[in-house]
Amino acid sequence: MMVEEINSGSKENPYDLIIIGLGPAGLTAAIYAGRYNMKTLLVGSSYGGMIAQAHKVCNYPGFTEITGANLTKEMVNHVNNIGVPIKLDTITSVSKNGNLFVLTGHEGIFYSKTVIMATGSEKKRLEIVGEKEYLGKGVSYCATCDAAFFQDKDVCVVGGGDSALTSALVLSEFAKTVYIIYRKPEFMRAEPAWVEKVESNSKIKTIFNAELNEIKGEQFVSSVILKDNSEISLQGVFIEVGSEPNTSLLKDLNVEFDGNFIKVDRNQETSENGLYAAGDITNNVLKQVITACSEGAVAAFSAYKKSKSN
Ligand SMILES: Cc1cc2nc3c(=O)[nH]c(=O)nc-3n(C[C@H](O)[C@H](O)[C@H](O)COP(=O)(O)OP(=O)(O)OC[C@H]3O[C@@H](n4cnc5c(N)ncnc54)[C@H](O)[C@@H]3O)c2cc1C
Repeated sequence: MMVEEINSGSKENPYDLIIIGLGPAGLTAAIYAGRYNMKTLLVGSSYGGMIAQAHKVCNYPGFTEITGANLTKEMVNHVNNIGVPIKLDTITSVSKNGNLFVLTGHEGIFYSKTVIMATGSEKKRLEIVGEKEYLGKGVSYCATCDAAFFQDKDVCVVGGGDSALTSALVLSEFAKTVYIIYRKPEFMRAEPAWVEKVESNSKIKTIFNAELNEIKGEQFVSSVILKDNSEISLQGVFIEVGSEPNTSLLKDLNVEFDGNFIKVDRNQETSENGLYAAGDITNNVLKQVITACSEGAVAAFSAYKKSKSN
């Protein structure tokens, strides 16, 4: 290993840029930063982020249809090909020491002149009785990961957006019956292409204007109780009711929010000097791979321009 690599990230020899998050936003930012020859570290707790859970991605240009896992693999290969180092670690705090950012992870402390936050979001919980208790025993937040365990079983998906509908479609390849339980009177937020597929799938039955009150079972899930007290016997509950951005790392910094999301300008700059944000964590209007990639590219360009101006 070269001396340069050993010392990289120390206070005396900080990175130009640290990107936090190995989803589409972070991986794209790394591709751009690498090509700008910035001394960059890409750090994240797991490869791929949310998109790694997608059964089929059909709206990313260049790929008519690709699994989320394979799209991730292509992006990671691209980063490796450019030579940006990737570190698997969870960052537990980000603070400032003078003009430098100090990132603390389980594996060490890293210093950098600029940071791109690309930490995406976490699935929201329903916070109902039985949800925590039966997690991994019938309750899941990832149909792509767990659908195969429900061969010939009855399951439900809670939610009515794209993630809920695509989860129901994945589950229909294994389960006997898939109930979609949605609190609205119709699918208002989902892509029409997914709605059509769901409506023409004989295994999927949608229950509109309904909400879950409780998940019941013994060792494993055996039924759900709806708010109107009706009970449905089933073995699996897949929860797809949206997500919350992972912003807790920023509590010691001067970052402005728009609701729960990081407020950015068109250069992906936050209100903290030298800190950029990209992807699902920002207050953008469309939370998709293509927008995450685009924001990652712009954030890297902005960090590059800043490093040149110092
Ligand atoms: C089931 C499903 C299907 C989807 N299908 C599609 C689709 O077909 N087309 C489409 O365009 N979009 C789809 N999406 C949306 C898409 O996945 C997201 O918009 C996209 O992944 C956002 O990318 P991101 O890089 O901003 O965040 P993420 O992909 O969420 O990545 C964030 C990364 O940050 C890491 N991280 C978080 N906190 C820390 C920390 N403290 N330290 C280190 N690392 C951290 C996470 O582990 C993760 O690797 C789907 C989403 C889901 C859930």
